[in-house]
Amino acid sequence: MSAIRIDGNVLAKTIRGEIAAGVAALVAKGQRPPGLATVLVGEDPASTVYVRNKRKACEQAGMVSIHHALPAVTSQAELLALIGDLNLDPAVNGILVQLPLPKQIDDGEIIRAINPLKDVDAFHPENVGLLAAGHPRFLPCTPHGAQQMLVRSGITTAGKHVVVIGRSNIVGKPMALIMMQKPSAAFPQAGDATVTLVHRGTRDLPGITSQADILIAAVGVPRFVTPDMVKPGAAVIDVGINSVDGKLVGDVHEDVAQVAGALSPVPGGVGPMTITMLLQNTLLAATICGS
Ligand code: NAP
Repeated sequence: MSAIRIDGNVLAKTIRGEIAAGVAALVAKGQRPPGLATVLVGEDPASTVYVRNKRKACEQAGMVSIHHALPAVTSQAELLALIGDLNLDPAVNGILVQLPLPKQIDDGEIIRAINPLKDVDAFHPENVGLLAAGHPRFLPCTPHGAQQMLVRSGITTAGKHVVVIGRSNIVGKPMALIMMQKPSAAFPQAGDATVTLVHRGTRDLPGITSQADILIAAVGVPRFVTPDMVKPGAAVIDVGINSVDGKLVGDVHEDVAQVAGALSPVPGGVGPMTITMLLQNTLLAATICGS
């Protein structure tokens, strides 16, 4: 068997077209284009590339990108003061503080300082709580992107056994929440799946992953998922981004394509979808604020 490729670049292009149309519709109604403020502290090379890509995608969708590059020695108080200004700025609909932050800064306090209505990463406890309660405002970008890859590929999740590997606050945990929630008017695309979340403390992890109809890997270990861990015909979403000998590889071994029914590639999978969902949240934030 050779798995169907779930192409994140193709899906992202389609969704970005829809977002650009949504932006144009807001502007046609007399509203200012949505504004996304990005905040980068220091010069971490990977973070610099991520922020550059987010800004470019933002401008391509007709939104306004407002960038703040701060030195690595920035203090907690200085960063909090900037966030306070961005919270009050009507031209800023979304605020993205690129993580990780330098060690003198408490990222939890920074996330909690962002106005939840501008929290387009959906990391603020209020937005985490809304998702956990089943009526989300913003969905976190990476798990939302992974879910959209399934939805838009016609892979239904309702009634399926979804196994998520990893329990981080950014990917694994919200991924499991999105998949387990009951669909409702407030969350029509909730997964309605039976969800198992596995991690380092899990006994017989391969025995569990090999029962998954849908397997989502967010581990951070290159080629962690091998063909023997996958049920024949399963859909596999590879969230991992790992650098091995200067090459980007996922958390799923390439040979899984011989067993799986569908597989997302790395690169060109969840990565472009993550940025797309950030744009979608920024458009939603502008729609909510309505000015
Ligand atoms: P993380 O915070 O390091 O979490 C990794 C999770 O995997 C943890 O829950 C950990 O378990 C589990 N894990 C690690 N090694 C394991 C093992 N040997 N056996 C079982 N479980 C194991 O990472 P993350 O932020 O969730 O990111 C995961 C991957 O996704 C990384 O490759 C990251 O680069 C990538 N990522 C991609 C995007 C994108 O846009 N495509 C966005 C974010 C992250 P414990 O909790 O037990 O330690």
